[in-house]
Amino acid sequence: MTTNFIPAQRVASMQSSSTLAVLQKAENLRRAGYEVYDLGAGEPDFNTPNNIKLAAHKAIDENFTRYTPAAGTVEIKRAIIDYIAANTGANYNPQQVVVSAGGKQTIFNAIVTLINPGDDVLIPAPYWVTFPEIVTFAGANSVIIDTESNGFQLTAEMVEAHLTPKSRLLILNSPSNPSGRVVDPKEFERIAEVVVKNNLWLLSDECYYQFTYQPHKPFSAASLRDELRARTLVSGSLSKTYAMTGWRLGYALGPQDWIAEMVKVQSHSTSNPASISQKAAIEALSGSQESLKEMLYEYRRRRDYLIPALNQIEGIECVEPEGAFYAFPNVKKVLDSNSKIKSSADLADYLLEEAHIALTAGSAFGTEGYLRISYATSMEILQRAIDKMTEAIVKLVKG
Ligand code: GLU
Repeated sequence: MTTNFIPAQRVASMQSSSTLAVLQKAENLRRAGYEVYDLGAGEPDFNTPNNIKLAAHKAIDENFTRYTPAAGTVEIKRAIIDYIAANTGANYNPQQVVVSAGGKQTIFNAIVTLINPGDDVLIPAPYWVTFPEIVTFAGANSVIIDTESNGFQLTAEMVEAHLTPKSRLLILNSPSNPSGRVVDPKEFERIAEVVVKNNLWLLSDECYYQFTYQPHKPFSAASLRDELRARTLVSGSLSKTYAMTGWRLGYALGPQDWIAEMVKVQSHSTSNPASISQKAAIEALSGSQESLKEMLYEYRRRRDYLIPALNQIEGIECVEPEGAFYAFPNVKKVLDSNSKIKSSADLADYLLEEAHIALTAGSAFGTEGYLRISYATSMEILQRAIDKMTEAIVKLVKG
């Protein structure tokens, strides 16, 4: 039935999330009875650790099931402040913290409270799919900084070269989803200096903060010196760090005035993040960190298997990720080697149909000629997926 529904302009020009679409495609195939090798969404295959689940059970038993302050309880704000202080040495006060329903809500609130229609927002590519879509929602323009020619490493000079009179915000995501690149702390500081010198603001999405592989170390914008931190919002999430994607718990720390506007928006949209998730998050941040170490060990083991295995496949070249849990192989030679499949989106569709491997096309992240492979999945699935992928690509190249 047609309804003649015409969406608001700022929504009509948005695209749905391609990372979530892959999740859905894999689910559809599974429901149709197929075995799916799901390397699509960045979602840890681990269960939420027991100590965190117990804290949630306790919250329910004690009837901690009502509204909380929109920005989160005093206790969770304290846990976040202490966690950041312990990891970075930085001090924040409770008015500089907001807790949201996932990192995504934090980032949404951050952008819509800062950005006016017509503003320019600088986004290094490849980027997480959601950044430019929220910028579109805010009626602003994404100015994409292509980092491919520099091995996906962003530099202060690149940021400077993309400044416009309308630039207002730079979004940084290190470790990066999807490239796995980590911005070196010295370069991070130089980038922040460009931001401050030009009166921009910095949004640092640190949802993979804990996931770096030696010799790289976690680095948070919270550790920047005060005059740089004064124009920086740090966004964190428990989804990946503690395998808590479904609990929807993220947070931001930053300038008090910016945070206050974010709380205002949140108070009229979702109100507070779920009360039970807040209790669970306090345990996650302040309880034992053993499970995090185990997960990181396992991600490293998978990475060490996956990257050489990908490089064995004809036409695929993949550099080693420095953080997060994504491989971002270059597949340009595969695309050039056949007449049927010319784009990363076509290749992702082909692998799904031919081999039931779910993964995401590089074009979704603003960089054509690549695929994103999430290795937040078991070693067994990874190994079987690599076998299937090898077969399917050989067939394509030879066929
Ligand atoms: N952030 C993850 C990803 O990139 C989860 C899906 C999403 O929220 O985009 O796959």
